[in-house]
Amino acid sequence: MKQTFSIALAAVVASMLISGQSAYANPNQNPNSIASEEKPAQAQSSQGEADSLTTRQQLYDRLSTVTGIPWYRIAAVDQYERTLSKARPKARPQLGKIVGIYIDEEQWAGPLNPDPADNVPVSIQWFNGVGRDGDGDGFADRTSDLDLLYSVANRLLQYGGSTEDDFSIGLWEYYHNSRAVQRIQQFSNIYATFGRLDLYEHAFPVPVGTNYSYRSTWGNARGWGGRRTHEGTDIFANHGIPVRSTCYGVVEIKGWNPYGGWRIGIRDLNNYYHYYAHLSGFDKTVGIGTIVKPGQTIGWVGSSGYGKPGTQGKFPPHLHYGVYRDRGLIEWAFDPYPLLRRWEQDERNRLKAANR
Ligand SMILES: [Zn+2]
Repeated sequence: MKQTFSIALAAVVASMLISGQSAYANPNQNPNSIASEEKPAQAQSSQGEADSLTTRQQLYDRLSTVTGIPWYRIAAVDQYERTLSKARPKARPQLGKIVGIYIDEEQWAGPLNPDPADNVPVSIQWFNGVGRDGDGDGFADRTSDLDLLYSVANRLLQYGGSTEDDFSIGLWEYYHNSRAVQRIQQFSNIYATFGRLDLYEHAFPVPVGTNYSYRSTWGNARGWGGRRTHEGTDIFANHGIPVRSTCYGVVEIKGWNPYGGWRIGIRDLNNYYHYYAHLSGFDKTVGIGTIVKPGQTIGWVGSSGYGKPGTQGKFPPHLHYGVYRDRGLIEWAFDPYPLLRRWEQDERNRLKAANR
């Protein structure tokens, strides 16, 4: 009996790993200027990071078994919240050990609860708080990873949660923010497609070894493709050189924009928006909602932009590459130059190792 159960469970988990993908759109990019620090996920995850991803996967699997919500949706909620906390660490301090979910005291205990630090499930429920006991210790503890995850999952399940539509409705009811819903669906599709959490490798946007040049031009008033100041790095290369995704992600925007010309926007799991402009064309496998991986060709270097659709040749061919970070309500550009240098070097090292 017990064995049958675990085999059935394994089959369920396996079937969740397969499947995935879909489409959505509606990107209202609102990129504002100004750089920010950032230590994005490194190309090579250290052993510690790998261990923590393994622990996270185990948590999601456990929650999935209990709630029936596929692990990749739980992972997507947690990751979305983690990216918000990383962007605003003071407003959203880390509550759990490895879970990224943040729930404030009032939400947790219930708005009218006289005890904002309440951890008794019955009274929290009475005051309609979000807090639940997920680890079975009898307390709804705001610092327990399982309690945090289970509390959010429990809210989402009030709207069903077994189908993608139910899940989206639950997300809307929980966040009341269409951007949050879109991000979590995007993350969920990325996780479901690759079937794992470790998706932080990067690639240089044009093939290393081809002729190209770029330098740090952050904030230059002149430059092509930016809006106010120059938000990004111009990589000069010949017309027709492949432009590749730098990350694992999902295509959020594809089409014409008066400044960027033919451009593509890709969202990654750090909640960064990677913007590739002035392309001469798009790879035909790439559409809005397409899941991509680092090094995958998405289009070709060109000189499109600065006019009505199809305008090209107003400046030398180059790729304008920008990265924007979602802070919940607005997006901030930060200087991609240091990232580009690192990804280029990493790729050179990989090529050297392969040719050895
Ligand atoms: Zn540019």
